Amino acid sequence: MIELPAQKAVILTIDDEEAIRESFHLYLEDYGYSVLEAENGQVGIELFESQKPDLILVDLRMPEVDGLQVLNHVVTQSPDTPIIVVSGTGVISDVIEALHLGAWDYMLKPLQDLSVLLHAVEKNLERSRLTRENRAYQEQLEVEVRKQTEALRNAYQEMQETNLQLLQSEKKYRSIFDSLTDVYFQVDLQGYIEEISPSVLSNLGHRRENMLGARLWDYYAEPERFEALYGRLSKTGSVADFEVLILDGDGMERPCAITAAREVNPDGSGRIYGVFRDITERKQAEAKIEHQAYHDGLTNLPNRTLLLDRLELALHRSKRHGYEGALLLIDLDRFKTINDSLGHSVGDQLLCEIAQRLASAVREEDTVARIGGDEFVVLLSDVGHDTQATARRAEGVAEKIKHKLSLPIRIRDHELYITPSIGITLFPMQQEDAGAVLRHGDTAMYQAKAAGRNSIRFFLPGMQAEADERLEMEKDLRLAISQNQLRLFFQAQINEQGAVCGAEGLLRWEHPAYGLITPDRFIPVAEETGLILPIGEWVLQTACDLIARWTQTPLGDSLRHVAVNVSPWQFRQPNFPAQVERILSRTNADPCRLGLELTEGVVIDNVADTVDKMASFKALGVKISIDDFGTGYSSLSYLKKLPLDILKIDRSFVEEVTEDESNAAIVETIIAMADHLGLEVIAEGVETEAQLAFLRDNGCRSYQGYYFSRPLPVELFEQFVMDAAKTSSCPSSG
Ligand code: C2E
Ligand code: CA
Ligand code: CA
Repeated sequence: MIELPAQKAVILTIDDEEAIRESFHLYLEDYGYSVLEAENGQVGIELFESQKPDLILVDLRMPEVDGLQVLNHVVTQSPDTPIIVVSGTGVISDVIEALHLGAWDYMLKPLQDLSVLLHAVEKNLERSRLTRENRAYQEQLEVEVRKQTEALRNAYQEMQETNLQLLQSEKKYRSIFDSLTDVYFQVDLQGYIEEISPSVLSNLGHRRENMLGARLWDYYAEPERFEALYGRLSKTGSVADFEVLILDGDGMERPCAITAAREVNPDGSGRIYGVFRDITERKQAEAKIEHQAYHDGLTNLPNRTLLLDRLELALHRSKRHGYEGALLLIDLDRFKTINDSLGHSVGDQLLCEIAQRLASAVREEDTVARIGGDEFVVLLSDVGHDTQATARRAEGVAEKIKHKLSLPIRIRDHELYITPSIGITLFPMQQEDAGAVLRHGDTAMYQAKAAGRNSIRFFLPGMQAEADERLEMEKDLRLAISQNQLRLFFQAQINEQGAVCGAEGLLRWEHPAYGLITPDRFIPVAEETGLILPIGEWVLQTACDLIARWTQTPLGDSLRHVAVNVSPWQFRQPNFPAQVERILSRTNADPCRLGLELTEGVVIDNVADTVDKMASFKALGVKISIDDFGTGYSSLSYLKKLPLDILKIDRSFVEEVTEDESNAAIVETIIAMADHLGLEVIAEGVETEAQLAFLRDNGCRSYQGYYFSRPLPVELFEQFVMDAAKTSSCPSSG
């Protein structure tokens, strides 16, 4: 609930548009403010002079005396009066100038949501109150300190003047001394404490008796600061309200303000005396004001000012160190409708909930800010060195935000659904400043809105194109299975006699517009979106259908083993073994003829789970191979634990096996290792006769590669196998 102000604050609204003045007037009056209207700058200045309003709202563009002139007048006459400029969106440069001239805040017209007005008014009135309080407090403090120092100085002088008067003045001195709330102190020029008032106990928790004779600087927390203090004292003879940290009785640092003077006698002796007081409370009040100036009162998130600061810093760092960052501008769709229909208090709670969800979607070092009614910004700094990766990460965060915001929000009896429009821009691009980055984000956000809300848009067209392509592919991929666009090609595997002994199924996507797409391009998208699961299932189903069919024909004599690739995502599904078993029995395929190719990554991820799953495949008779062997984390210790059947030597080693000695050594080692573990080994990517010869000479007995055949569509593959079977009675050329 928004509390009504205790006393009616007077607000002056200056605008040449009557409709705006009126809407402000009516709205603010509802919240208990009394509102004055001025139809132009001149009347505005007159009303300001005569009525002394608590806060001013001023339009920037007005004929004759414009908003900036009014602002100038108010700021010079009464800097404590909060003045908020209201401006059309076309004149951002005016707003910036206004802020430079001393405007406290600004709002952009048209105000779609008057709660923004209310927040701005409340926030700035509170800030003005705190500022005034703090100033009054400081002034009072200064007066008191001056008064007390004066009294002490007089007493001290009197005391020195005559011995006769000593007794009398001593009494006077004592009475002042004992009643002090501040701490009076007197040290010699070396800093030894000659006198200190008993109030040091209530101020800092030190006993007067313990301090007498000690050196004052043993109580200082920051030596440099005290050196500065002494420097000033010896230069000018006195300091007023000089802030230092002093250690209290518990050894804690306490901020204190010192007012002191230094007196040196002709003989070179002398003393420093003065008062200090604990200013912890004042510091806290200042910190509160500071916090308010940089944070949004409702959500406690950083506000626009702090965001711009941090963005400026991030820009600076990224230009220096070559890191890139991203800025996400998030606007809530249809927030106004919710706010208008359910009331501001629900709207406020909704904004707070959104703020929390946003914060939970980013890393600790990222900034989430609220820069307007329902406008939030996420600043990701130091993301990476590579624009593509930065774009992907920014998009990932945007997706995460979309997801987090899509979950229903319960406020009182309402279940609310909110969607964001998100604009993304990356930096640094050129020599842009923070304001420009924010504008780019804004532009992108409007594009997202125009794209139909709940969307994400990049500022740069090129990046957008890439993101679009990813999205397009994702959308198309969803249809690929149902529209029968997936193909399973087969590549033959050849034994030492040159006969076909098996095959690997390799996925292709026959896209209606782009033609045949290879798996390297779409498998990553399928994995990111989870589509790999239905796709993987389709591959298994298709391969098992063919296994069952081939077994019934002469092809079955050659194709004793048909392997498919299994994505880590698929393999990690708890029900994966059950799924394979179901498909096998449904298609009536012989499990002993099915092979699964896994990468090393799957294995090290969770060894125990992997061992369990592999064991259940082994029980079925399904063969397991490790694909791309040698490129990942190949350690004998984990290999020994796994019930494996086959190692596939990665293409990259085979490729240079005849030229590169270290590749040759790796291949030899893999073969020896497989031998040792009792595993079969197959080389992939065999392209030349020389490669084949090397492999055969080193004990590798199965091969796959372009040297024999490329991956082929099913009919061509079947033809290839039949042809090979006919010629295999003749000795192979190798
Ligand atoms: P992979 O499992 O290492 O498959 C071998 C890749 O090497 C295949 O590329 C194959 O066409 C190619 N290749 C075979 N012989 C030669 C040769 O002599 N020289 C050269 N330069 N290349 C050769 P492809 O078909 O583009 O597949 C790429 C990768 O996509 C596969 O690598 C596999 O990781 C993945 N993939 C393919 N099909 C599936 C699938 O059904 N499911 C999953 N999860 N991944 C698949
Ligand atoms: Ca493979
Ligand atoms: Ca491979």
